[in-house]
Amino acid sequence: MTLPLLKPQFTDLYINGAWTPAQSGKTFTDICPITAQPYCEVAEGDAADIDRAVKAAHDALHKGPWGTLSAAARGMLLWKLADELERRAERLINLETIDNGKPVFESKIDLHQAIGVFRYFAGWADKIEGATIPVAGPQFVYTRREPVGVVGAIIPWNFPILMCAWKLAPALACGNTLVLKPAEQTPLTALEVADAAEKAGFPPGVLNVVNGFGPTAGRALVDHPLVAKIAFTGSTEVGREIGARAAATLKRVSLELGGKSANIVFADADIEQAIRGALVGIFYGKGEVCAAGSRLIVSSKIHDQVLEGVIAKAARYAPGDPFNPKTRMGALVSETQMNRVLRYIDEGKMESAKLVTGGKRAEGFAGYFVEPTVFDEVTDDMAIAREEIFGPVLAVMRFDEEEEAAALANASPYGLAAAVYTRDIARAHRTAARLQAGTVWINCINLYDAAAPFGGYKSSGYGRDLGAAALEQYTELKTVWVGLE
Ligand code: ADP
Repeated sequence: MTLPLLKPQFTDLYINGAWTPAQSGKTFTDICPITAQPYCEVAEGDAADIDRAVKAAHDALHKGPWGTLSAAARGMLLWKLADELERRAERLINLETIDNGKPVFESKIDLHQAIGVFRYFAGWADKIEGATIPVAGPQFVYTRREPVGVVGAIIPWNFPILMCAWKLAPALACGNTLVLKPAEQTPLTALEVADAAEKAGFPPGVLNVVNGFGPTAGRALVDHPLVAKIAFTGSTEVGREIGARAAATLKRVSLELGGKSANIVFADADIEQAIRGALVGIFYGKGEVCAAGSRLIVSSKIHDQVLEGVIAKAARYAPGDPFNPKTRMGALVSETQMNRVLRYIDEGKMESAKLVTGGKRAEGFAGYFVEPTVFDEVTDDMAIAREEIFGPVLAVMRFDEEEEAAALANASPYGLAAAVYTRDIARAHRTAARLQAGTVWINCINLYDAAAPFGGYKSSGYGRDLGAAALEQYTELKTVWVGLE
């Protein structure tokens, strides 16, 4: 498999409007998961670089032109940033696929959505309003929504450019400045976003990008006293650590964490639609999706029919060349991730779940490709039913009564998303209300929109990305009293 002839334009850190190597001079190797070969060297930032970046962001907020820019001007800059990304679409799509292993079909969708998120929040910038409050005394009271300050954004490798947009766009619309730490597996497209922001006209220091590892660069960002808020998307384990560490400096924290999302199919569902939903739910994004529909909870009455359809159509997701626009399953992001997924598959076999399709590393590839895998006869006590695998592995379970379906779905520490397939409108809404999940899809799955809030219940985190709800995450509310006598 050959990669397009494309060399990354940016591999240094982007701090205070300038490209700079890490202070230590260190770099790390970015490995392409499609070929399992080194792709490029990237500057490895650590605490010293984070400190430089945070100070630049702090100065940009308090001393630079950014703090006094009008809200409408901020919106215009975000809109221009979206234009810049559009202009370099082909390059971004290819880089994302090289870095993450996802098919170009998906990188294209991700980029399109990321651009949509920047445009959506560009529109919000000059519509972030306070309120006037009728109090008992002779005073005029109003509220202002002010930026929180320097935001530290720590993002994962599964949707690098999209997660960049989810954090940057609302934070900038609200007038904050940022230090972004991308995931070490996928450092490249965030650097392109930094360059696009510079070309769009963002002042130096407003957006800084520091690549590096979690325990060094990530932790330094979480601990830094000048960082007012951490916006994190990643694993529950790291989210828990970030929440605890951030408490030391009382930073604001929003956490979008793991999931084990249930996809419930009732006996009266449109079966073909439910089968398509099951496949997209678990195999889109190679299953490396926090909201992946990794538990298929099917009515016993239609179980065999649904399973047959899922098995027959899983072939559509056979791993292939990610640069072929027809491919729907790319390479897992890293060898570590592939081995983790293969370990779970072995565990499923040992726990006597019934493997009905897939179940191993895909043959004929140098990179980290895994077959789309389905286990039937999974029970609630098995690791593959309880734990987040983050790979193309579906656990199929059955239910008989309506209440049982929601109870099974809720029997998970996670609560990110769920899907429900039924033609009975009352049952659909009843079930949606019962589910402990931040998003419920009815007769659809895996849909996102810049305007629709997204986030978790329970161990899937707290706070919401996207929509008007995101504005609350990136503003402080100030109450102003004016004496009238
Ligand atoms: P995954 O397990 O999916 O790789 P992680 O939660 O480990 O996800 O990583 C998500 C992001 O969090 C990455 O940018 C990673 O570098 C960062 N990270 C990992 N560990 C820490 C940590 N201890 N403190 C801060 N950030 C971290």
